[in-house]
Amino acid sequence: MAIVVREPLAKGVAFAALFTGEKSPRRFSRWAKVPTLALCAVLVPALAGGADWSEQQLATAGALRDRALSGTSAYEHVTSLVTEVGPRSAGSSGDPAAVRWALNKLANLGFSHVRSQDVLVPRWVRGHAEVALAGPTSQSLVAVALGGSVGTSDEGVEAQVLEVASLDALNALPAATVGGKIVFINQRMERTRDGAGYGAAVRNRTEGPSAAGHLGAAALLIRSVGTSEQRHAHTGSINYRVDAPRIPALSLSNPDADQLARWLKPGKPVRLRVKSTARELPATWSANVIGEIPGTERANEIVLLGAHLDSWDLGQGAIDDGAGVAIVIEAARLIGRLERKPARTVRVVLFANEEFGLSGAREYARLVGDEAARHVIAAEADLGAGAVWRIRSQVAPEAVPAVDAIREALKPLALEAGDNEGRGGPDLGPLRALGVPVLDLAQDATNYFDVHHTVNDTLAQIDSKTLNQVVAAYAVATYMAASKSGDFGRLPAQEQQQR
Ligand SMILES: [Zn+2]
Repeated sequence: MAIVVREPLAKGVAFAALFTGEKSPRRFSRWAKVPTLALCAVLVPALAGGADWSEQQLATAGALRDRALSGTSAYEHVTSLVTEVGPRSAGSSGDPAAVRWALNKLANLGFSHVRSQDVLVPRWVRGHAEVALAGPTSQSLVAVALGGSVGTSDEGVEAQVLEVASLDALNALPAATVGGKIVFINQRMERTRDGAGYGAAVRNRTEGPSAAGHLGAAALLIRSVGTSEQRHAHTGSINYRVDAPRIPALSLSNPDADQLARWLKPGKPVRLRVKSTARELPATWSANVIGEIPGTERANEIVLLGAHLDSWDLGQGAIDDGAGVAIVIEAARLIGRLERKPARTVRVVLFANEEFGLSGAREYARLVGDEAARHVIAAEADLGAGAVWRIRSQVAPEAVPAVDAIREALKPLALEAGDNEGRGGPDLGPLRALGVPVLDLAQDATNYFDVHHTVNDTLAQIDSKTLNQVVAAYAVATYMAASKSGDFGRLPAQEQQQR
């Protein structure tokens, strides 16, 4: 199908909303308006014992699962994205290319109501970074600027290094100790299956620059928030506070952080020279890309499947989040090919700029309006390409058995039961705050942080069979959520306030 995309991003010009040209909503002729009860008796399958799904629907879920496990096109989708677009950080040339890719891909795969939603995104350029021993010999360390960091002057910063074990340890120091130094936060991230190690160490990156700047430091170096022992420094965004000077912030690969720690160990002063040409440019336009598999009887109710379209600039954006994009597209596409489609609409949203401020997620929630109440549940794929091993949720307590039923339908995958405190993924935060329940199909993150946000985020890290397993889990969960007789409740107001 020929898709015409208006050339985007000419200084604030909106992306053209696209429609696939697929049939407009079916029109019913007058004779089709048979008495409602009779229609129901014919069309609505009997629900087994008042359960949420009919036997037929459960059989369809099983068939969908087996179909996905036997092979999907997810690996083709992610291959297409990384090959035709590659890295696509907010505001880079890859960003609008990714939006065009997604609009065309969804349309070509037969999605309905394919469209874009303009999103203003910040723009930051990495430039070139150098970290080296200032003397007596010259040795370079592998480092990358952290996302959003200011650069240094042309001469760079040369100062003595102050090593601290953690952000808390830094915050406990007096300004007199920190002033003028290059602070080095030397905290190793722990490898865990659920990614909890990342949550524990990532504050060094997000809060460290302003904590150090507030105490008068000249620059901040952190040990990579990653588990790789290869020489890959890990990037990611920082949050400068308004009440602290903005200082350059960079991360060292784990082997280089080890090297620096060895130099510091004897207790003699170590001086480093840090140079960075990172800089911020004016904000520019990107877009969320949306496509749907229309529901049947309750098409105005939505099951949302999210992933983020942007990536960091260092690698190809294959596992973060090309894999997620491929997983949700493929799960929805498989549902769209079913003979009996679910009652609710499955909406795929590929969010703009997750990495550098959740711009797309915030804009989607800002524009959702009254439709928020019709978002029955949402799930996001943003933890790479590892197998799903557990299901968590955040739904009304009375809907928890339905989550167990989804796990039961995925029995061959031997998933563990999780708690009802799932968060669903970073882009779902703003929707959760509006009361939308979430499902967390937790992927195995044991090796994810070896690659995440590094030059090594490439297609070579993805195993197509494992990706099919993930698609199976997403397809079944989405199909069951979209065909469930009741809903998943709403998140209580108290919960919303905590987000
Ligand atoms: Zn991500």
